[in-house]
Amino acid sequence: MPGSDSPLGRGWVMDAACTSSDPDLFFTKGAEETEAKRVCNVLCTVREQCLEDILRYEDRVGDRWGVAGGLDRRERTALVHQRRLLVHQRRLEAATDEPAHEVPE
Ligand code: SF4
Repeated sequence: MPGSDSPLGRGWVMDAACTSSDPDLFFTKGAEETEAKRVCNVLCTVREQCLEDILRYEDRVGDRWGVAGGLDRRERTALVHQRRLLVHQRRLEAATDEPAHEVPE
């Protein structure tokens, strides 16, 4: 499982679908990367917990790799940027009391 050395809470790991998959599958590209995402998005019941955990972990270590939480590293980077923009917009709205442009989800 990507990020399995995370010091963060890991109680959900026992239900992770990737524990019965080849770990290398989550560090590939192309068709195998698509298969890793399928395991996450179709078979895993703890995808959301995994995604939030890996995002916190990657924020701490400053790097991203592999597929985790159903997303590849570029998708997770885009999600982090989108969330930061949303926080910035909400702070701006609160400061100005005017709605900023919507961020597509
Ligand atoms: S979402 Fe993917 S990487 Fe995360 S625990 Fe589930 S199968 Fe593993």
